[in-house]
Order: sequence, then structure tokens, then C-alpha cells
Amino acid sequence: MSRLAQTAGLTDVQREILSTVRDFVDKEIIPVATQLEHRDEYPTQIVEGLTELGLFGLMIPEEYGGLGESLLTYALCVEEIARGWMSVSGIINTHFIVAYMLKQHGTQEQKDTFLPRMALGEVRGAFSMSEPALGSDVSAITSKGVREEGGEYVLNGQKMWLTNGGTSTLVAVLCRSDEGHPEGTAPHKSMTTFLVEKEAGFGEVRPGLTIPGKIDKMGYKGVDTTELIMDGLRIPANRVLGGTTGRGFYQMMDGVEVGRVNVAARGCGVAQRAFELGVSYAQQRHTFGKPIAQHQAIQFKLAEMATKVEAAHAMMVNAARKKDSGERNDLEAGMAKYLASEYCKEVVEDAFRIHGGYGFSKEYEIERLYREAPMLLIGEGTAEIQKMIIGRRLLEEYRFQG
Ligand SMILES: Cc1cc2nc3c(=O)[nH]c(=O)nc-3n(C[C@H](O)[C@H](O)[C@H](O)COP(=O)(O)OP(=O)(O)OC[C@H]3O[C@@H](n4cnc5c(N)ncnc54)[C@H](O)[C@@H]3O)c2cc1C
Repeated sequence: MSRLAQTAGLTDVQREILSTVRDFVDKEIIPVATQLEHRDEYPTQIVEGLTELGLFGLMIPEEYGGLGESLLTYALCVEEIARGWMSVSGIINTHFIVAYMLKQHGTQEQKDTFLPRMALGEVRGAFSMSEPALGSDVSAITSKGVREEGGEYVLNGQKMWLTNGGTSTLVAVLCRSDEGHPEGTAPHKSMTTFLVEKEAGFGEVRPGLTIPGKIDKMGYKGVDTTELIMDGLRIPANRVLGGTTGRGFYQMMDGVEVGRVNVAARGCGVAQRAFELGVSYAQQRHTFGKPIAQHQAIQFKLAEMATKVEAAHAMMVNAARKKDSGERNDLEAGMAKYLASEYCKEVVEDAFRIHGGYGFSKEYEIERLYREAPMLLIGEGTAEIQKMIIGRRLLEEYRFQG
């Protein structure tokens, strides 16, 4: 299936990277994804393959050993990977966000220390804002970093929903840090991102830092999602991202903004796979003497699904290109994330309906997609939060002049 979701104006290098990734997805991911997902098994072999392809360093600058590719290349690769199995794109995504934050905001020493090893996939990133009592309302964070005499910080608090919490070895953790910011400072100006190095695994992975275990989820399996508990966790001053406290909220929001393009790309990939499954099944299943694809009601469904796949892809590409051009893209990223995740859910639902009763069977891939699509409605900001961002930006752009 190649007619849909084409991207005009790609370079030869981009086309070559995408064709390699697509080949890898078709041969190494799709054939095993559903089995691994049902066993909630980490896809070690797939991750090793992606490491060899250089995917962990795709956007890391060449001077640090990465491929120095654009957000568009990255997003198109993510779209391909999510077409195979969304969880695999989740393994790369938090790594990519942390590498991006380091590239944009890290001190030279932080870049030199982490980026070369991140490009090789030796250091693997996760990022942590959410807490048990908050996700959308980041300004309400209660985890705290307190500076001690001598410069070290002591971190306390509980974090929730860390994608790659167990497998990562570097976590960007957002905490409140009141030091230097007097009482009454706006919440978003009193937050700091700490770069927390740790062992991979579960339990006490570093003195003062515990990763309790995997959260059992309805979908998005294989990739580990965890809590993170800080109890007197000591962090040296040179592990404050960018070296200055009070910048954490902006750094994280910058990371999440590129993450939104990534979630949009995942929605595109999952929707494409659902369309492929639906259009194929519709030509094989017969009712009332003909393939169901020949019933107009099913053809209309296919038409709607394909139109949504095309529209989501176009918006995702537009948001990535805007960021690559150096322009602010929060409006485009919010719109792309919102539309692609909603359309993905609808396309998956239609493909599920086309499968009739068989869609309910774990033997059919669409069953897995049906449980995966909802995660995209939540991650990197819910639909309501996207609409708030879009609405605010529109009012800035279209300020009433009268
Ligand atoms: C599988 C998974 C992986 C995740 N990975 C990560 C990760 O790696 N790192 C990380 O930091 N977080 C992660 N998250 C957390 C995710 O970002 C949050 O779940 C998400 O931001 C929503 O927050 P919440 O769950 O606290 O919902 P809430 O914020 O409690 O929202 C509940 C409902 O209220 C709505 N709502 C909230 N505020 C408003 C408002 N002002 N107006 C209208 N409606 C509103 C929301 O849209 C939602 O429908 C992950 C979550 C999941 C499920």
C-alpha cells in the first residue's frame, strides 16, 4: 500500500532512510508485533536492529555522532515504525525528546557527556513531568529539588507514567526548585529540569531513586511505563539542565512541542496500518454474494478512512516542516496532534467494524490497534489541552483590532 501518505519534496537521503526503515518494519516488526504485544514482551531484537540503523541518533547533530537529520525525517520514520507497532515508536520517542532538550538547552559539558552515547543508543532517555495527582496541569508539580550548601540538590517526590522508566538510563525530571525564586514567583518560573542518571531496571536503581515496576496497561504494551520515587535523591549542580534553575517548564514545553509532532506521526502510522488491514479484509470477506468492499456502505467507510489518513499526514508534515524552518510551530503541532490522534481512533474503529466479529479476536491485528489508538488521545497532552493551546494561539493571531 503506497498510494496514500506520500510526501513531496524529500531529498534522496530522506527517501533512502525511509525506504530502509519501511523495509525493516515490514520484515522485522509487523510479523512479530502482535505476538510480542500479547505477551507484553520488550522487543529487544527490534530495538537492537533500530540501534544498528542509527535511529537513536537520527536527530542528534553529526558532531556528536548522530545523523543530524531534520524533525521531518524523524517524524516520517516514526510514522513508518508506528505502522508496524506503536510501542516501538514509544521506545524511541522519549529518547528523542531528551536528546532534543539537551541539544537545545544543555550546557556544552552536558552535550559532550550525553549526546555521543545517546546517538549510539548506549544512554537511553526518558522524561518525567506527570505525577499521581497531575498530568495536564504541569504548573501544579509538587516534586521538589532543594539546593544544599556545597551546591548539590536533594530531590523528593513521586512521578507517574514514565514511558521507558525501567529501560532508560537518563531521565529528565521536572521539579519545583524555589532556590533563587522568591515566594510568589509564578509556578512556571520556579521549575527546573534535573538530568538524573540511573541504572536500567526496577527497584532501587540509585540511592534515593526507586522504579517500582511496570504499570499494567490496556495497550501500548512491550514498552515499560512506570512510576519513579525520589526520596533524598542527590544530584550534583552540573546536572541542572542548562546550568540555570527556573528554566525547566520552558525546556519541557519545548520538548513536548516536538513530541506532539511525534505523536501525530504515530497516529498517522497506526491509521495507515488500520486502513491497510481494512481495505484488504474488505476484498476477501464475502456477504450476500460479493466481497463486502463491493457494498457501497463499506466503500464509503474506506473512502472516509483514506481521506483521514491523507489529511492527518499532510498536517503532520506541515507541523514538522514549520519547526525545521526555525519558526514557532505550537499551533501547527497542536492541530496535527489533535487531528491525527482523533482520526487515528476513528480509522481504527472503522477498520474494526469492517472485520465484523473477527475484529474482536486476538488472532487479528486490528484487535491490538484498537487497544493502542486511545493512548494517542492522552499522551503529550489530551485533546482538550490541544484545543486550549490552539484556541489561545488563534486569539493571539486574530486579535480583535476594533
Ligand atoms: C501510557 C502513558 C504513557 C505516558 N508517558 C508519559 C511520560 O513519559 N512522561 C510524562 O511526564 N507523562 C506521561 N504520561 C502522562 C500523560 O502525559 C498524562 O496522562 C496526560 O497529560 C493527562 O494527564 P492526566 O492523566 O493527569 O489527566 P488529567 O489532567 O487529570 O485530565 C483528566 C481529564 O480532564 C481533562 N482536563 C484537564 N484539564 C482541563 C481543562 N483545563 N479544561 C478542560 N479539560 C481538562 C483532560 O483533557 C482529561 O480528559 C503518560 C500517560 C500514559 C497513559
